[in-house]
Amino acid sequence: MDRQLTLMAVHAHPDDEVIGTGGILAKYTAEGVRTVLVTCTNGEQGDGPGGVKPGEPGHDDAAVAERRLSELSESVAHLGISHLELLGYRDSGMDGWEGNGHADAFANVPVETAAARLAELMERYRPQVIVTYDENGNYGHPDHIQAHRIAVAAAEMTGIPDKLYYTAVPRERIREMFAFMRSSGMAPEDFELPDDFGTPEELISSVVDVSPYVENKVKALQAHASQGENIFLLKMPPEAQHQAFSHEFFIRQTCRVDAPAHEDDLFAGLRD
Ligand SMILES: [Zn+2]
Repeated sequence: MDRQLTLMAVHAHPDDEVIGTGGILAKYTAEGVRTVLVTCTNGEQGDGPGGVKPGEPGHDDAAVAERRLSELSESVAHLGISHLELLGYRDSGMDGWEGNGHADAFANVPVETAAARLAELMERYRPQVIVTYDENGNYGHPDHIQAHRIAVAAAEMTGIPDKLYYTAVPRERIREMFAFMRSSGMAPEDFELPDDFGTPEELISSVVDVSPYVENKVKALQAHASQGENIFLLKMPPEAQHQAFSHEFFIRQTCRVDAPAHEDDLFAGLRD
């Protein structure tokens, strides 16, 4: 097999690359796989300096985007990612925010238009493995749902990936983490984890041990300092962080090679 093994991760915002896929990006890069991170938006709807939210006085979209893209380059360096590709769309903001109505918001771009641009990147890098969110964007953010849609559409248009994965958060694990946060006073009192939050274990096909790369993930997450207030994992003690970061979980959606139903390597079936 003379093809260069390539992994492409399709994410919505600067910082999304770390928690669910930072470990596989770092691990596969270290193993000689070419890794490509596609970030679809500039993150304009993130927090401004001092935690200022979009729509509040002092929130400067352009400045927030510039800051977040520079944080993203730092994160990419900590993870060792080979190539960063920015689609440059406008962040739509969380569901219900004013930014949803912006004509240029990523979620309002026709799927085929954005998918065609992503398809060009797939043609250029020819990734055997592509990772993105599930159809609910993992938690309902309009840009995550749109990233899912364009990744699936571009994969279909090009027929390039042999394996397509959705990131997953195992339901049991997230419960344990929430219970830990509650017991250590880190979870808001008025918030209850919905019963259907997270992925049922039986749907998870692929679990990758990324424990040697936990430190890279922590540093990458710390690089996204302007959004630090929102990143609860940064507030956890190191042992809990290690527990939360040491494995990454996926649902295999497409597989055109011979690979076991349960695997610990996204490139299973693609190696010599
Ligand atoms: Zn996001």
